[in-house]
Amino acid sequence: MARPAIAEINLNHIQANFALASSLAPQDQTVAVIKADAYGHGAIAVAKALADQAPMFAVACIEEALELRAGGITHPILLLEGFFDSCELETIANQGFSTAIHCLEQVQALAKSRLATPLEVWLKIDTGMHRLGFSPQQALVAYQQLVSLPQVKKVVVMSHFANADNHLAESVTVIDQLAALPAELLQPEIELSLANSAGILAHANTRKNWQRSGIMLYGASPLSQETPESVQLQAAMTLKSQIIATRWIEAGEQVGYGGRFTANQRTKVGTVAMGYADGYPRHAATGTPVLVNGQRSQIIGRVSMDMLTVDLTDITDAEIGSKVILWGEGLPANEVATHCNTIAYDLFTGVSRRVPRLYKN
Ligand SMILES: *Cc1c(COP(=O)(O)O)cnc(C)c1O
Repeated sequence: MARPAIAEINLNHIQANFALASSLAPQDQTVAVIKADAYGHGAIAVAKALADQAPMFAVACIEEALELRAGGITHPILLLEGFFDSCELETIANQGFSTAIHCLEQVQALAKSRLATPLEVWLKIDTGMHRLGFSPQQALVAYQQLVSLPQVKKVVVMSHFANADNHLAESVTVIDQLAALPAELLQPEIELSLANSAGILAHANTRKNWQRSGIMLYGASPLSQETPESVQLQAAMTLKSQIIATRWIEAGEQVGYGGRFTANQRTKVGTVAMGYADGYPRHAATGTPVLVNGQRSQIIGRVSMDMLTVDLTDITDAEIGSKVILWGEGLPANEVATHCNTIAYDLFTGVSRRVPRLYKN
């Protein structure tokens, strides 16, 4: 017997979600973003599952890219945050990684480097997100500098959207950001990469040569309003556990640390082997949904490190060993995330090492 807390990963669903992303721009290429251990789903397993479909993988940094190489992944790999130190450049070249270039210091480091093979670089332009990238005014000069370097074999132009997920954004919109792209770089011979999952799903005008699909591969929609495509996404991760204890408490009695839940009637409490050390959010409030034997119930009281408590009063067949789903099949991670004041990205990437990933298919 083992502790029943597991994350079941359905690789068929990831393949189907990737197919959906690429079907939305069949003439373009779709990069599979598998940074942060494929958003908690296991980067090597996901890369292997997508090996025949994805022309390229993207990760945050060289450490993540090297993990993929060590796992036998030979595909092109893009470093979305670029390099942090010029000493990474030799490995980047030798491994055939592509790297984002987002600032002048990186261009200078590249110009000074001696590389055995030239690199593909992705020039990042800050069109309004104001996190990484050259300003639209600096971008053309940076582009011209890069194409002239012997260390560079190809330049792809990329940008990232701040509000592609929100149709109602009052702040900088996709349209504003597209308009900020320098016209000189919008030439048919220059490859572009603009869309993240939200762009792919909701903004056809962002689907350019290379789309970068992340969260949608894992079956969670990033959109605040669903589209006919986003509702077809299939959850890849089902976070599961079991009831490990039950008890009845009387009206007025409390549950868990800080007595955060007080029963207003006779209540059957179920204890589940899942806690914040597994990555289940500690700030999940009483009322956050869970499934017990496929029926909806809710968290009561505070989540503790290794356990949480649920209301079993109305789930008559619940007993020790009953199956609990925290999110995934039948309970969208987005719904749980809303109760926890966060997003599915945060839930997925937070699932800790203590939770074994079990792969289906
Ligand atoms: C993480 C990331 C993506 C993927 O975003 P999703 O919203 O998960 O699709 C795309 N582009 C960049 C630059 C990223 O850092």
